[in-house]
Amino acid sequence: MKNASIKSKYGELVAILMASGVVKEKDINYAERIRDKLTSPQPLLNILKDLGLVNDDKVREIIRETKHSIRLGDLLVELGYLTADDLTAAFNIQQESENELKIGEILVKYNFIDGRQIDRILSIQLGYPLIQPTIAMVDRDLVRRIPFKTIVKHQFLPIRNSERVLLIAFNDPTDSEALLAARRLFGEKITPAVADQKALSETIRILENAGKSEAMDVDSKTVVGIVNSTIMAAIQEDASDIHIEPMGEKIQVRFRIDGVLSHQGDYPGDMMLQISSRLKIMCDADIAEKRRHQGGRILFEYKDGQIDIRVSFYVTIHGEKIVMRLLRQKEELLDINYIGMAPRMLSRFLEEAVYQPTGVLLVTGPTGSGKTSTVYSCLQHIKNPQISIITAEDPVEYVMEGVAQCSIDTTINRTFEETLRHIVRQDPDVIMIGEIRDKFSADMAMQAALTGHKVISTFHTEDSIGGLIRLLNMDIAPFLVSSTVVSVLAQRLLRKVCPSCATPVQLTPSQLQRLGSGLNDLVGGNFVKGRGCTDCRQTGYKGRLGVFELLVLDPLVRDAILEHKTSYEIRAIGIEHAGLITLLEDGLVKAAAGLTTVDEVLRCLPKLSPPRPLAVIRRLCGEIE
Ligand SMILES: [Zn+2]
Repeated sequence: MKNASIKSKYGELVAILMASGVVKEKDINYAERIRDKLTSPQPLLNILKDLGLVNDDKVREIIRETKHSIRLGDLLVELGYLTADDLTAAFNIQQESENELKIGEILVKYNFIDGRQIDRILSIQLGYPLIQPTIAMVDRDLVRRIPFKTIVKHQFLPIRNSERVLLIAFNDPTDSEALLAARRLFGEKITPAVADQKALSETIRILENAGKSEAMDVDSKTVVGIVNSTIMAAIQEDASDIHIEPMGEKIQVRFRIDGVLSHQGDYPGDMMLQISSRLKIMCDADIAEKRRHQGGRILFEYKDGQIDIRVSFYVTIHGEKIVMRLLRQKEELLDINYIGMAPRMLSRFLEEAVYQPTGVLLVTGPTGSGKTSTVYSCLQHIKNPQISIITAEDPVEYVMEGVAQCSIDTTINRTFEETLRHIVRQDPDVIMIGEIRDKFSADMAMQAALTGHKVISTFHTEDSIGGLIRLLNMDIAPFLVSSTVVSVLAQRLLRKVCPSCATPVQLTPSQLQRLGSGLNDLVGGNFVKGRGCTDCRQTGYKGRLGVFELLVLDPLVRDAILEHKTSYEIRAIGIEHAGLITLLEDGLVKAAAGLTTVDEVLRCLPKLSPPRPLAVIRRLCGEIE
């Protein structure tokens, strides 16, 4: 018997089983004779299985090896989950229907078979994982890189996972067209998964809405819808803050992404009252109050999770300006070795600051400079069962196992002052104070260091020397500062150049002038700039990196403090004798390595003294020239 005729008579699987020698022609004839005697019709494959001529494992193996040339409907018939008549009926419906539904969708929609059952069958038969896709699972970087209509058409989504396999969740992994499209987009090495149909289409719909700026459409939506879609869009864009600002005629909505505000859309000015009322309801603020600043908190729940949002209403001359901060679960804490410090600076920081058993270690920078994350990375690095670590934070931003963390709560009178008074009685080795914000907390930090504790804290100053000067300006005795502070680390976060559209650039005369460098000083630098592409929303930047200035207090710097030297003089001593690399210099090295741009360096870093030549800074950083 010819293969083709077996295929048309008994189905493709049986044909493949025979072609590959798993069953013989006589087995098939025998099974057919038995089938003819049965009162209720049975697929031949089931009879072959009942006769022990083939088993489920073998069938699965064959299905997988055929690279899915078997279509879903045929597979279901051959495996006995669907009758041939039902499949024909479904095909007829498919022909007649106007919208192009896939056969799997029709089978479910017209109740030929349960959707979950199809998923289960496919998962078992193909040996693919069965998953319920959610927004959080989707690899959005990949989604952004491909045309969204392909996703809608073929109903699949790339799934993020820890192993290095690219998992693609399909509505129907036997759909050869969808598989082909996925392979074309993501490469041959994809691993298909069977997705719950409802969850998959829902996730695709959310992604589609999030990708559309039309989600900002006012006319077609209610105020509730506008507020929700704005928050959803901010979540999707990984924004840290949402600014809703009345400007008379219009309301401006901006998102802070990677530290920079970007315009999202406008609404008519007369909607402001409704929007602010809606948000006040959501965060339990006083709706009637429009003349005082207010604050509140929203636990925003959406399809795939929830997010904590801190809302602030600030009264301006045009009405209330609303800022929402999206408080995400902190991502994986960065290992101190990977926070982006140059090799030599990192080893100094560890040896002369982090590993020092006593003394004050300060991390300084403005809000949003990443200093709190660095403090957490330090704690993570030094924590071990032999030492006791205790914190006073306002509030706790990252929960760490094995660390006694206290969140300040002034509403029940658990104030910073009160907490710091009690903290040393807890017999700690390491004390983390969320922020030194006044003379009291500075005094407490230094007293604790004097009595043999290690204190780690943050401080709001421009640069490392500024941290020392500000302590002195708080009326803290110079001898106390010079004998307790071991090191001050200043830091900033700079936007990283988008790797997809980075292009080499030459520095302009004006950039050189603003840097305070000559062209010769920058020999060996590979400066780049992002042209802007879909990956980076046309900004040329994607993600951020840390830039650091480490001041270790050596005897010369300590003497300078005792001698009431100016910040200018202390800075010169630091650069000259204490191996200080300034923020500007560290940023310049990173720009010269193509990680960030000179514009970003000039925008974010203090220019207190001109940088040394690139080759010199690179050597100090411990980088290969
Ligand atoms: Zn780009």
